[in-house]
Amino acid sequence: GSSSGDGEVYKVGIDVTYPPFEYQEDGEYKGIDIDLINAIAEDQGFEIELEAMDFSGIIPAMEAGQLDIAIAGMSITEERKKTVDFSEPYFEAGLSLVVEEGNTEITALDDLEGKTVVVKSGTTGADFAEENQDQYGFDIVQVNDSPSMFQEVSNGSADALIEDYPVISYAIAQSNLDLEVVGDRLNGDHYGIAVLKGEYDELLAKINDGLANLKENGTYDDIISTYLSD
Ligand code: GLN
Repeated sequence: GSSSGDGEVYKVGIDVTYPPFEYQEDGEYKGIDIDLINAIAEDQGFEIELEAMDFSGIIPAMEAGQLDIAIAGMSITEERKKTVDFSEPYFEAGLSLVVEEGNTEITALDDLEGKTVVVKSGTTGADFAEENQDQYGFDIVQVNDSPSMFQEVSNGSADALIEDYPVISYAIAQSNLDLEVVGDRLNGDHYGIAVLKGEYDELLAKINDGLANLKENGTYDDIISTYLSD
């Protein structure tokens, strides 16, 4: 980009326990979301500073004025649109039900009667569990990050978990987790970059322009294929 920059340093909330979108390696933040927001900032001539936190803290921190932007594998939802404005969608995701590898007892939501489902606070997975708990008769346990959620099922404390499909399939492949995805995705959604509603119209326009430029010039595809090869 040729823009001269607006001189602002925008604080960006991230969830760094969320590979391939966001993670920490050798003291550095890496992943699709990190590369995307850096490339957008560079294309549009603004500065950013990354702030790692639990996913459930991100929207409250935006509302408290502590963050300007969030990129955190955050699904675009009608509920969140009451507090934040989203960029154009940048990645297709959706939720999956996940059990311990070799579990033949749970093959669908119908098999969750009396079982314990672990979810991550503040996520669409947690919302899905709450909305479906009465119908399927399971108990819900909430944790604060994805690795803890995977752990609960691996060690038998919970019977199933709900996680975004691209994240759990990447985790299973990369980390040899003894987990497996059950059936088809439970829903479909898209990730968006968020700013506090009504406060950042110019910044949101830059984010959308930057995203469009990266899609156009091949940078977006390069970033995706750096982390996801197929
Ligand atoms: N996509 C899910 C959501 O928006 C999970 C995000 C996350 O755990 N970082 O709630």
